[in-house]
Amino acid sequence: MHRPPTLKINEIFPSIQGEGFRLGEPTLFIRLSGCNLKCAFCDTKYAWQTGQEMSVESILKKIKKIHTAFPTEWVCLTGGEPLFQNIGGLVRRLKVEDFKIQVETNATISRRIGVDWYTISPKPPDYFYQPEFRKKAKEVKMVVTKGLDLGVLKKLRQDFPEKIPLLLQPQSNSKSSGKHALRLLRQALKEGMKNIRLTAQIHKIFGWR
Ligand code: SF4
Repeated sequence: MHRPPTLKINEIFPSIQGEGFRLGEPTLFIRLSGCNLKCAFCDTKYAWQTGQEMSVESILKKIKKIHTAFPTEWVCLTGGEPLFQNIGGLVRRLKVEDFKIQVETNATISRRIGVDWYTISPKPPDYFYQPEFRKKAKEVKMVVTKGLDLGVLKKLRQDFPEKIPLLLQPQSNSKSSGKHALRLLRQALKEGMKNIRLTAQIHKIFGWR
């Protein structure tokens, strides 16, 4: 008997978008398992392996159930790396249900999937991203690790249209992490870089999921 294709899902939950330009918006999160990178600073390492195979219809069923108690228009596909798996079918089904869709990606994997909001976050050491994201990204969010320097930011600012915000997100909410990010922001401003700003992970401040 033909079985529908499945996706490996780490968790599905309602929350508030705690990062980036959509910060503060009520959002239903679908965290996909697996990632093609292994960043040392990754804060979702638990999603690299663990998860449950689910059909698109069973994911939708769960989303709809949560939505009745938490009616919001946004669904965020995150990970791990959501584009590591073929999420095309899931995106199509979510669109049929009229959800707005955000994808948070490291942008290293190319897939022809149209969504409302791509958040791209190129990662060290090479900060590679697929060139198609120059047109697709709605924001470029950089985790400010010790290694992130002005040269990387300058290149990204040149690569992406100025209307696309370049966000500096401290690696953690510690004072030293914030200081490093602020130092980098000041350097960027002195270089004349536009549409660049500091952000923080507010869900970690308030202990939200
Ligand atoms: S790309 Fe993202 S999910 Fe993957 S290892 Fe790096 S920080 Fe973690």
